[in-house]
Amino acid sequence: MRYWIVGAGPAGCALARVLAESGNADVTVLESRAQVAGNAYDEPDAAGVLVHRYGPHIFHTKDAAAYAFLSRFTDWYPLEHKVLASVHGQLVPVPFNLLSLRMTYAAPRAAEMEKSLTEAFGAGARVSILDLLARTEPELNELAQYVYENVFRFYTLKQWGVAPDALDPAAMARVPVIVGEDCRYFQDPYQGMPADGYTALFERMLDHPRIHVELNRNACERFTLEGSELRLDGDLCREPVIYTGALDELMGYRLGRLPYRTLDFQFETLPVDSYQPVGVVNYTVDEPYTRITEFKKLTGQQLRGVTTIAREYPRACREGDIPYYPIPERESGERYAAYRAQADKCKNLTLLGRLAEYKYYNMDTIIGRALETGRALLGRG
Ligand SMILES: Cc1cc2nc3c(=O)[nH]c(=O)nc-3n(C[C@H](O)[C@H](O)[C@H](O)COP(=O)(O)OP(=O)(O)OC[C@H]3O[C@@H](n4cnc5c(N)ncnc54)[C@H](O)[C@@H]3O)c2cc1C
Repeated sequence: MRYWIVGAGPAGCALARVLAESGNADVTVLESRAQVAGNAYDEPDAAGVLVHRYGPHIFHTKDAAAYAFLSRFTDWYPLEHKVLASVHGQLVPVPFNLLSLRMTYAAPRAAEMEKSLTEAFGAGARVSILDLLARTEPELNELAQYVYENVFRFYTLKQWGVAPDALDPAAMARVPVIVGEDCRYFQDPYQGMPADGYTALFERMLDHPRIHVELNRNACERFTLEGSELRLDGDLCREPVIYTGALDELMGYRLGRLPYRTLDFQFETLPVDSYQPVGVVNYTVDEPYTRITEFKKLTGQQLRGVTTIAREYPRACREGDIPYYPIPERESGERYAAYRAQADKCKNLTLLGRLAEYKYYNMDTIIGRALETGRALLGRG
């Protein structure tokens, strides 16, 4: 059986490997970019610093199977990711926790707030800002307002171009307030960076005699979806096609474009060993960028006298831009559902991945979904 996979991002690569290893499948992967790894792509810059061209990617998961699968193709550099927020010039840990609280408020007030937080939610709790805002105790209310204003509101405005209350609450709930001193950004048991980078990891995954990769190939120039039929170069295509690109593009934008946020990255190489104390510093109040990443602090790369940082500027995605984040709003969700209803009529088309499903996924979830999709397709074939 021959399978077509559109897109050599994490979803397409993992699925290609699962299908190829079944022994019953030949897989052709079409990728529009000049390289594999999707948005996890990394490469050394002119100074030799390994940088992530499409935004910093940190691997973390609770999913032992996804971690084990990836570990077949890489060793790991152990990283416990920590993020600081620059709030009016002061660097405080985020997610906002008890250490951030003590840096923000004078001792007696901080102690009162800490006591109320612990009584209300329990030591170690991870509390959504929405739950905190709903509390009526004066200390919790004051704290909730402070965190909302100085950690969430401007950051969300910059990130999404709209105030937090216009968004799906799930987007807001993602970054909690922590009733403890744990400064790790993620608490997952498996965290780290691929020792030789993501590009090497995904190249190894695709290195299989039954996988054929074609780069610089926009599949939408070859595949079209007409009614319930997929056509390949104009002819009916009966072979299974797994599409990980944008659904509106595949369907010729016939119901209008799905809105996205895009990002402009401003890379800068500096003649210093270190630029900032941690890999990522969020700018939650003042600057026009949302965060600065210093890549060496994430990858553990040992280079003296040079480092590269990237400032990240979100904005609305226009034609020709890279679509990074689907917008978690009702109207865009409805447009996607209308596209999806049409696409689901085609029995040999499977939609997988953050673009095709118009949903933000972390890499581990997408690997888990690719493994599951592979099993389902093989069961069917
Ligand atoms: C700024 C940013 C930071 C992130 N940080 C993290 C992180 O720290 N940790 C984490 O776990 N996740 C992170 N993610 C999420 C991560 O990028 C996704 O989980 C992952 O990329 C999903 O893989 P995918 O294969 O679905 O999509 P993608 O990586 O986008 O891959 C899709 C591929 O399909 C190709 N393609 C699209 N259309 C076509 C077409 N018509 N023809 C041919 N090829 C096509 C694209 O070129 C691309 O290579 C981040 C995402 C962003 C935007």
